[in-house]
Amino acid sequence: MSEGKAVWWQEMTADAIVEHAKKDDIALLPIGAIEQHGPHCPCGDDSYNAIGMAEHISRKTGVMLLPCPMYGSHPFHHWGMPGNIPLTYETHIGLITDIVKGATVSGFNKFIILSAHGQVSSTIVAVHKLGLEGIFTLSLHWYDFLRDDQDVLEDWMWHADEAETSVALYLFPEFVDMSKADKGGGEPLVDRKFIIAPGMRPRPGTMYHFEGTFARPEYRELKNGIIGDATKATREKGEKLVTRLTDHVAELIEDIRQRYEPGVKPLET
Ligand SMILES: [Zn+2]
Repeated sequence: MSEGKAVWWQEMTADAIVEHAKKDDIALLPIGAIEQHGPHCPCGDDSYNAIGMAEHISRKTGVMLLPCPMYGSHPFHHWGMPGNIPLTYETHIGLITDIVKGATVSGFNKFIILSAHGQVSSTIVAVHKLGLEGIFTLSLHWYDFLRDDQDVLEDWMWHADEAETSVALYLFPEFVDMSKADKGGGEPLVDRKFIIAPGMRPRPGTMYHFEGTFARPEYRELKNGIIGDATKATREKGEKLVTRLTDHVAELIEDIRQRYEPGVKPLET
């Protein structure tokens, strides 16, 4: 499909949405969070990243985009940090399942959640709750596509760092002030060799960063709200990351389209 305009649910009439679903019943839900992103990026960074990435994917594939809720859920150590507004896990799980279930009424049967923020603690539960109701849902975190792609980045991805700031510089440079970009970080409670950073390839014996309480609360641990080195961020790196992600998700959407005709519920096949 040629690159066109992003297809946003909130910009369409109900009739047009139902007609769209008859031809293509895949919907993508971008989710982010409201969270401090250091002195150089806005608190809506993750939501803006999710929205921008979703638009690139929709322009390439024509996939329907569900409106992005700006708020998200957070690992426990983000709580209590100025700038952050975390939803409780129950609220966020309910938010996602309500949005997806609501979209099924218009004829959508396949869902992709694209997260630009580490909130696996609620997205995985939401996916399985939806599965119990017969709804096919995949949940992706954009940085899972990095998987050691160190030809673009110098460091692992963490927070408000080289990776996230590069994507922000590509998608919404008007909100980024690189003159304030800095290095930062905290010390995990066990050796880093046991922890899989976001976007890192898992190795035997390692745990995903969300599988433990590996960090002290950020309001005590972080001096400038950054984990990693934001000074290494560039727009060019961001463009490469977003293009790579867009191509990956487009391939996934195509795979679903090839396997299941519109109207088919994959869990009932
Ligand atoms: Zn972020």
